[in-house]
Amino acid sequence: MSGYDADILIAGGGPIGLAAAIALQRAGFTVRLIERSPQAPSFDSNQTDARVYALAPASLDFLDRLDAGEPLRALRHCPYRAMRVWDQHPERPLRFDAAEAGAEHLGAIVEHAALAAALWQALPPGITELGAEIVAAKTEEGQAELGLADGRVLRGRLLLAADGPDSPLRARLEIPTVGWSYQQQALVCHLRTALPHAGTAWQRFLPGGPLALLPLADGRVSLVWSCDKALATELLALSDADFALRLSVASQGVLGALSEPTPRRVFPLRLLHAQDYHAPGLVLVGDAAHVVHPLAGQGLNLGLADVATLTASLAAARDAGRGWWRPRTLAAYARQRKAENLEMLALTDGLKRLFGNEQASLRALRNLGLGLVNRLPLAKPALLARALGR
Ligand SMILES: Cc1cc2nc3c(=O)[nH]c(=O)nc-3n(C[C@H](O)[C@H](O)[C@H](O)COP(=O)(O)OP(=O)(O)OC[C@H]3O[C@@H](n4cnc5c(N)ncnc54)[C@H](O)[C@@H]3O)c2cc1C
Repeated sequence: MSGYDADILIAGGGPIGLAAAIALQRAGFTVRLIERSPQAPSFDSNQTDARVYALAPASLDFLDRLDAGEPLRALRHCPYRAMRVWDQHPERPLRFDAAEAGAEHLGAIVEHAALAAALWQALPPGITELGAEIVAAKTEEGQAELGLADGRVLRGRLLLAADGPDSPLRARLEIPTVGWSYQQQALVCHLRTALPHAGTAWQRFLPGGPLALLPLADGRVSLVWSCDKALATELLALSDADFALRLSVASQGVLGALSEPTPRRVFPLRLLHAQDYHAPGLVLVGDAAHVVHPLAGQGLNLGLADVATLTASLAAARDAGRGWWRPRTLAAYARQRKAENLEMLALTDGLKRLFGNEQASLRALRNLGLGLVNRLPLAKPALLARALGR
């Protein structure tokens, strides 16, 4: 492989770039991972990370296959067995229970810091460039070249862009996108609850956006409250006590009084989809390819599925003696993943619109819908299977 620093150059050491580096290296490809942050991910059990993910069982299985599942469980993670979703009547929620699907759990809530540290532990040594800012990129079929801020140039056969929702590479290499801002922000923090969370994920659809209370291993809950910017600004400005009271009311007391919020953070919300997931010498994965509303907690799950599919496609092409870097191989990956990602984009966008609309007819439809799904023998297993990533 003369002239190349690795088969595959991976831009971005977020959870998706880390997972891709492990999966591709295990599949027999040589890999270089380039991340602008100078610090290796680490986990401090005395600290909490307000950024959490609801990982589906399919994602947890994939992490196990990467040998990152065990370290993650050893750090901190909270399996959840049930979900309760409602808009006006907490006593009549849409219920999802793992037992109904014959599963042990519906997934696990994990903190970003724990996931990144677990993936880092599973990463082969010596393949990562930390503190390396990518400032130039050039790709063609079977060739990729990255210029770093320190003047070095790295070469590979394929460049994998895992550089997040703002993907500088996607912009630099002129991959067009479609999408829009939701003009909303997600406000996140952790809180204590008067009533036990009972290993259940709670989600209320408010007219301004969904409010989720996700169970954490230390008994607290993680809040993800999607709302317009004006409300987010107002909520950020409240004292801890006033904020907790406001949230206890907004969640209709399902977990009793909430208290002791950790520092609040906000993330802007948008929908984004790259029109192409590949170009000669380039392939996109994770948020670089698609950004979804967090109301269904699916962004990272979709990204991990991208990594699993891409790794399998490249390895199958190589094993069949075909050029694994060829557009045909990359197109097969893109076709498979676009179908599932677009379905989730449409589902989350549709739900956001349905629940964000206060027209009386839509409100009635929503209430009818939640009740119906509970009773329909076919709809519920299908929704459950989707949530489990099956
Ligand atoms: C409020 C909120 C809640 C969410 N909840 C869930 C959930 O419950 N479940 C779920 O599945 N998903 C959830 N998501 C989505 C999830 O956060 C994303 O899908 C996930 O973080 C994407 O990971 P990534 O590795 O693709 O991108 P990122 O995490 O953004 O990582 C990109 C990396 O690339 C690096 N980088 C960028 N540019 C350069 C450069 N020029 N040079 C070098 N390095 C570079 C960055 O430093 C970064 O480390 C949520 C999102 C939000 C906003």
